[in-house]
Amino acid sequence: MTTIFVTERLAAILPRVRDFVQQELFPLESAYLHGSFRALEPTLQDLRSRVKDMGLWAPHLPMEDGGLGLTLTEFGLLSEELGRSPLGHYTFNCQAPDIGNMELLHQFATPEQKHIFLEPLMRGDIRSCFAMTEPEFAGSNPVNMATTATREGNEYVINGHKWFTSSADGASFAVTMAVTNPDEAPHKRASMILVPTSTSGFTLVRNIKIMGEEGDSYASHAEVRFENCRVPVANLLGKEGAGFALAQHRLGPGRIHHCMRFVGISERALDMMCRYAVSRELAPGKPLASKQIIQAWIAESRAEIDAARYMVLHTADGIDKHGAQAMKESISTIKFFVANVLQHVLDRAIQTHGALGITDDTILSYWYRHERAARIYDGPDEVHKTVLARTILKQYGYNVEM
Ligand SMILES: Cc1cc2nc3c(=O)[nH]c(=O)nc-3n(C[C@H](O)[C@H](O)[C@H](O)COP(=O)(O)OP(=O)(O)OC[C@H]3O[C@@H](n4cnc5c(N)ncnc54)[C@H](O)[C@@H]3O)c2cc1C
Repeated sequence: MTTIFVTERLAAILPRVRDFVQQELFPLESAYLHGSFRALEPTLQDLRSRVKDMGLWAPHLPMEDGGLGLTLTEFGLLSEELGRSPLGHYTFNCQAPDIGNMELLHQFATPEQKHIFLEPLMRGDIRSCFAMTEPEFAGSNPVNMATTATREGNEYVINGHKWFTSSADGASFAVTMAVTNPDEAPHKRASMILVPTSTSGFTLVRNIKIMGEEGDSYASHAEVRFENCRVPVANLLGKEGAGFALAQHRLGPGRIHHCMRFVGISERALDMMCRYAVSRELAPGKPLASKQIIQAWIAESRAEIDAARYMVLHTADGIDKHGAQAMKESISTIKFFVANVLQHVLDRAIQTHGALGITDDTILSYWYRHERAARIYDGPDEVHKTVLARTILKQYGYNVEM
């Protein structure tokens, strides 16, 4: 754990979070892997109450909203600790996609929208989802979408088809991207509209199976349909046509949150790798750790994780000081770099565990299934690499087309 970015107030919080995750959440992982998220919810509700009692609830929120008022860099370090368990962020009410939606609503919602949607979200009474990607269009360039919201009197009538609407199962509302201004330039056509999932015409078609697992409740990714779904015009978030501008606000901090979660997962995987390497004996007195190739995997993983953490914290610090726009290239760099570090470290940890590594007797298999997606969501690797290369090549007089 780096100390450069650990402030005094964080130094007091991090060990408490680490102990809580280790003592309360690690022991639940087996039940989660062999059961379901929904089955664990009563236990998680109790733990959420304890987090509130400890004064650590929704740490990303400003103090006036009941959070800890942390900087992005501080929250990033906390996110690493929470990332060591797949249940960490949820238990502290700072899980994606709710965290991004809370930040959006905090910045752009009207007082009435805050009362109806944000306040219960911050209290953890409800969950939300974010519906932008459509199966029929390349999500990497989301300005292309077919979902429309047509104004009729004081209502929007929404029609469309979305998928990978994460955590829609059990969510109370969907922040929905829909075309409201088809005649505008592509990036000014869509708006964000708050759609309660109880609205007639909103259908959760299915939870999509991910590498054999469809998941449930918070831990799921849904296909949804909007068929003549009517919501009041008052549910528009921000201005008409500002959907993509608002989405940009969500992305910078969101990538820090994800990347530090990836660092947390990688740390846990390395810890498991080392524990197994010293305890598994190939012959009496000859543990796996005696083999140079295992030592190399451990050393490489250590170096890659440390590099990843410093890169993310440096980017977070830059965002805190200069804003996300100023750190655009760094944000792209960490997104593909850290997602790949995560994959390499997980793969080495699984290989070190042998057959055990691919069973659901350890948490490694869960992450291997679900975090392959890290290289796809929030922009696939290739898009981020192009953004970075474009900046570099521009200095050599070459303009890369996006
Ligand atoms: C686990 C998970 C959770 C998600 N959660 C949500 C959510 O809550 N809400 C939501 O709206 N969406 C969500 N998404 C969708 C996600 O945003 C999209 O999957 C992502 O934007 C990529 O879009 P796509 O899948 O349509 O791939 P496409 O855009 O079809 O791209 C396919 C592949 O083409 C390559 N590619 C794409 N663009 C370029 C380029 N410019 N240059 C070179 N190669 C390129 C990449 O390798 C990419 O993987 C989620 C996705 C996953 C996997």
